[in-house]
Amino acid sequence: LEHKEEFSHKTLAMDIMRPRRSDPPLSVITQDGMTVQEVEELIADTTYSGFPVVVSHESQRLVGFVLRRDVVISIDNARLRQEGIVSTSRVFFTEYTPPQPPNFPPSLKLRGIMDLSPFTVTDHTAMDIVVDIFRKLGLRQCLVTHNGRLLGIITKKDILKHMAQIANRDPDSIMFN
Ligand code: ADP
Repeated sequence: LEHKEEFSHKTLAMDIMRPRRSDPPLSVITQDGMTVQEVEELIADTTYSGFPVVVSHESQRLVGFVLRRDVVISIDNARLRQEGIVSTSRVFFTEYTPPQPPNFPPSLKLRGIMDLSPFTVTDHTAMDIVVDIFRKLGLRQCLVTHNGRLLGIITKKDILKHMAQIANRDPDSIMFN
């Protein structure tokens, strides 16, 4: 019976990832074009530990992942020490930064703080496999994609909550021991 239950509704990455259907969309940073102020507002308006970096909001194509604390430290440092970095400076995660038109403040290059190959799974990956990957690789978060488009994120805490739920439902389960 227990096994049957496991198979009859196998949990997938899309069932556990955030955002849920009713949530606001994933908070992402675009690889070029955002201003220092826009990135600071994103930081101020959220508490997430990190942000996926995407090519554009339209494409939702994943470029990398940045930790909140690294973004905060880099912007604070740049504002203090880097000539000309102001709220209207543009932030770039790209390899090459286009020359800014005259009268524009210098841009802030943050590619160096980005994880260029964050771990990803597709939305249809079974959660037992995702749990296994988290364990084996010691992941803190994993991004979820569908046809190359970024859909969501699963953190270590999301995984732990999911496992606690399963344990409650099925205390004898050996799957996650
Ligand atoms: P933790 O899961 O350890 O509390 P976070 O504070 O980063 O870590 O995430 C809190 C919740 O928000 C988690 O459920 C996670 O899936 C989700 N989340 C994490 N990062 C983002 C993001 N950039 N945009 C939207 N949701 C996120």
